[in-house]
Amino acid sequence: MNYHDTSRRFMIDNSAIRGEWCLLESTYQTVIAKHNYPLEIQGLLGEMMAAAVMLSSTLKFEGRFTLQARGEGPIQLATVECTHDKHLRSVARWQGDIEGLGFNELLQSASLAITIEPDKGENYQGIVPLEHGNLSQCLEFYFQQSEQLDTRIWLHEGNGKAAGLMIQVMPFNSADALNVDDEAQAEDWQRVTTLADTLTAEEHLAISAEELLHRLYHEENVRMFDAELIDFKCSCSKKKMSAALVSLGKEELLQILEEQEQINMNCEFCNTNHNFDKVDIHMLFESSSASNDGHTH
Ligand SMILES: [Zn+2]
Repeated sequence: MNYHDTSRRFMIDNSAIRGEWCLLESTYQTVIAKHNYPLEIQGLLGEMMAAAVMLSSTLKFEGRFTLQARGEGPIQLATVECTHDKHLRSVARWQGDIEGLGFNELLQSASLAITIEPDKGENYQGIVPLEHGNLSQCLEFYFQQSEQLDTRIWLHEGNGKAAGLMIQVMPFNSADALNVDDEAQAEDWQRVTTLADTLTAEEHLAISAEELLHRLYHEENVRMFDAELIDFKCSCSKKKMSAALVSLGKEELLQILEEQEQINMNCEFCNTNHNFDKVDIHMLFESSSASNDGHTH
């Protein structure tokens, strides 16, 4: 089986430790190919994509998970959306010369947010403090602070791939249920994370989850769950774009169409142009006024 563009969950048996692994190739390359991103942005988006896949995998929900940085500095926007069925899309906007800039410099005067939008129920938003030198450490700190969950995250990007590994203490007092005392849990944690620290970027980007977990944990009993496939899929549509057009007003739109044949609405995520001509605009306002006043004729 091709292990690229998959994520795997695993557990270390007889411990309260769980993990997530992912490796992205074509999904990552598709995102990068949509825009002419400098290497610095490619690196940031690659790490954000791997992180978003793993973070969303730890949640039991149906809907959309977003990891998004917004700022006034070099990075104006860097966002990754991942749905529960692992459809991913991502885009970034930047300004100025960003050559050679690292994580903190790129994200100066930016804020990083995690948003969970379930199909049913209320949205959740958490702010990830940007007080550490890389994305992994910022996210580890976030979990420690907001969820009180010991978490370690390894993110690597390169050779057209992005890889993630995450190790976390299980929530819900799972340790109590497993009869693991605090001391044993601390020992397990130390051993499992120390071994993961030996992982190199080259290995991480090149080998399958089975191989990686065997290399790190061949002395443990590791239980692996089924692979989940990840792919690039944009949720944009002409219909969604038309909602933005309607807010401009019919007169304004028709005036634009006096000067040009079509109005092009470009989706930043997938770079698709959705085109609207005069007929489209008339139909748009007929259907929106029909649905707005609720009358049936
Ligand atoms: Zn799109």
